[in-house]
Amino acid sequence: MYTKDEVRQLIKDEDVRFLRLMFTDLFGMSKSVDLPISQLDKLLNNKMMFDGSSIDGFVRIEESDMYLYPDMSTWLIFPWGQEHGKVAQVICSVYTIDGEPFAGDPRNNLKRIVAEMKAAGFTNFNIGPEPEFFLFKTDEAGKPTMEVNDQENYFDMEPADRGEDCRRDIVLALEKLGFSVEASHHEVAPGQHEVDFKYADALEAADNIQIFKMVVKTIAKQYGLHATFMPKPLSGVNGSGMHMNMSLFTEQGNAFYDAADANQLSTTAYQFLAGVLAHVRSLTAVCNPTVNSYKRLVPGYEAPVYVAWSASNRSPLVRIPGSRGLSTRLELRSVDPSANPYLAIATILAAGLDGLKQQLTPMPAVDENIYQMTLAQRRAKGIEDLPDTLHNALKSLAQDEVIKAAMGDHLFDSFMTAKSKEYAAYRLNVSNWERDRYMEKF
Ligand code: ADP
Ligand code: GLU
Ligand code: MG
Ligand code: MG
Repeated sequence: MYTKDEVRQLIKDEDVRFLRLMFTDLFGMSKSVDLPISQLDKLLNNKMMFDGSSIDGFVRIEESDMYLYPDMSTWLIFPWGQEHGKVAQVICSVYTIDGEPFAGDPRNNLKRIVAEMKAAGFTNFNIGPEPEFFLFKTDEAGKPTMEVNDQENYFDMEPADRGEDCRRDIVLALEKLGFSVEASHHEVAPGQHEVDFKYADALEAADNIQIFKMVVKTIAKQYGLHATFMPKPLSGVNGSGMHMNMSLFTEQGNAFYDAADANQLSTTAYQFLAGVLAHVRSLTAVCNPTVNSYKRLVPGYEAPVYVAWSASNRSPLVRIPGSRGLSTRLELRSVDPSANPYLAIATILAAGLDGLKQQLTPMPAVDENIYQMTLAQRRAKGIEDLPDTLHNALKSLAQDEVIKAAMGDHLFDSFMTAKSKEYAAYRLNVSNWERDRYMEKF
């Protein structure tokens, strides 16, 4: 964390000319305001006002004056675009005119749930995200085409391919910004990539996801490519997930690890897991918040469809990866990169904490292939389905008091309203699939 004087010195040393203030709207879109460096004092003194009524999910016009308070621990200087001087970025929290944290700011809301976690005796909720994305070629106007930029496959090398160069530059840019990149590889679908970076505590992890997406899109553009985090851009091949690896830590270390247990998992881990499973149908509305998200959550493409967990199987909704000790973690595989990371992490954490509070026991692990079971076999094992549409996920969310409370009234109401409208708009559209199927038949 920098002091005001240190920031002033840094700006001088690095010749920073512009400040970019970033925050996140209801839908997880990064918003930014650019300031010339002359406005620095205003920013440092929490006097940066903006019009909240023009941001999705924020406020009505009559209460629109809001303030951006910078979180100086997020300060960074971009490694690109320096011909007009350097640009520094700082992530901000949104405050009301009365100096209160604004409840409709998803970042403030995540801080609120993290405080509940601290009150329950934990120091960190560590999150290691695995965001996947596609690179598409662009046309002369710079618009994305449907043409992916390679025909490679999982872990393939791409000789003389722009996709690989682009991914390497993404990794270099991330490292310059302080990310610890653990792996980057081609994913299963043509044009699909994944870059994994080291886990961080809840708020920093959500901030990192926002910065990550911005970096990926910026570098892709430099290569004449369009990077998309849309969950299922192409039919017939894998979609893009954003698996969330997670663990609770205390002063003593990883609270999910217990050497004495058969799976080397603690009671805390089992109860947290049980909480996530108990709330997962409503969490799905938050973690898979678009109509398109549900085209990914189908059998056959490595995305989860059924509510189950396993310590040996790679494909279930919750997987327990093999490593133990400090790396003991749950991996929730349903989340996709269209989710608002602040809202997703807050609601997942609240679901897990509810499991601890209620001392829930998870269903038995399912180690066989669920996709080969019949419906009757699944039901006999107590395996439920994830919601199959945004509409059904929203119905579950509307009934889940724990997840509603984890969003707070403001975010919950605006989310339900906006997403119900989104689903209704989708229903109004008649697709080519329907015309191909029915036009001549009926
Ligand atoms: P996969 O086995 O699904 O391919 P990866 O190895 O690609 O998983 O990703 C692992 C992710 O888990 C990384 O982001 C890593 O930092 C993160 N991770 C490791 N230990 C923990 C932990 N204790 N809590 C949360 N995340 C963790
Ligand atoms: N792309 C897959 C998904 O939709 C995940 C592939 C993987 O296991 O990394 O979740
Ligand atoms: Mg992957
Ligand atoms: Mg994974």
